[in-house]
Amino acid sequence: MSWRRTLTIFFSTSTRPSNSIRRSLAPPFSFSSHFSSATSPFPSGLDPTKTSDKPRVVVLGSGWAGCRLMKGIDTSIYDVVCISPRNHMVFTPLLASTCVGTLEFRSVAEPIARIQPAISHAPGSFFFLAHCRGIDTEKHVMEVHCETVTDASGSNILEPWPFQVSYDKLVIASGAEASTFGIHGVKEHAIFLREVSHAQEIRRKLLLNLMLSDVPEKLCAFSEEEKSRLLHCVVVGGGPTGVEFSGELSDFIIRDVHERYSHVKDYINVTLIEDSRMTILK
Ligand SMILES: Cc1cc2nc3c(=O)[nH]c(=O)nc-3n(C[C@H](O)[C@H](O)[C@H](O)COP(=O)(O)OP(=O)(O)OC[C@H]3O[C@@H](n4cnc5c(N)ncnc54)[C@H](O)[C@@H]3O)c2cc1C
Repeated sequence: MSWRRTLTIFFSTSTRPSNSIRRSLAPPFSFSSHFSSATSPFPSGLDPTKTSDKPRVVVLGSGWAGCRLMKGIDTSIYDVVCISPRNHMVFTPLLASTCVGTLEFRSVAEPIARIQPAISHAPGSFFFLAHCRGIDTEKHVMEVHCETVTDASGSNILEPWPFQVSYDKLVIASGAEASTFGIHGVKEHAIFLREVSHAQEIRRKLLLNLMLSDVPEKLCAFSEEEKSRLLHCVVVGGGPTGVEFSGELSDFIIRDVHERYSHVKDYINVTLIEDSRMTILK
């Protein structure tokens, strides 16, 4: 199993979590797992609840479904454990507006701890920044197998490590993957619009290209064609998200670009591609 292999790799490398991280994870975790050696100081998971404990509801995902459910859970009856690679919920209908600055990013992201406060103070409730990698329903003790999310950039690399969480009730609310419908190059060259980080990337790129193109002709290192290319925004997919985002872009062009970047207003275009039909919004 791949997560079991990851554990082996983790213990054999020098990039272990720092002592402070180990200490902060330790109290609720058991050291008696069958996945790690009995002498290992590393946490390996949350044990099954005892009859004296509250039943544990494990929620996979912090999107619309997971958060709505967690908000409504009676924490005097249940402990809640949320496992997700994202510590906030995204209010997706407003995401397109953040790409062009109509709304700020913080207006569309709500921390999980505010949605279900028990996860930050109840002794048996937690949030784990992790991916669920598998679910074991066969065994007497049902558990989910997870892998932490770590920052794998920069020089201070911390390898993700596996752990498992036993559950009494499991809610799978991990959503769906964005589909590219097999279109070549989408993953490599386009930006999806599902997360706040995607909206941030779109906004950064849009403003960068506007500012690069706004440089006076004498100082500009590229041609008119290149300017048009840089300011040609192509939206792939004419579903609600694509149409809404194209509308936001058009408003931004009419409202902001014409006023603040008037030198380049004639170069900017939005093309919305949907199936075999092509619509040009100017
Ligand atoms: C830009 C945009 C605008 C939209 N506008 C509307 C609208 O106006 N009206 C409407 O009804 N719908 C809209 N939608 C669709 C709506 O957002 C989705 O239908 C909804 O988010 C689905 O909810 P969900 O909880 O199933 O999944 P999601 O909200 O996608 O949540 C999935 C969660 O699971 C987590 N996760 C993923 N993998 C794992 C894993 N391995 N382990 C643990 N956790 C995992 C993710 O990080 C995320 O937190 C829009 C979507 C987008 C992208």
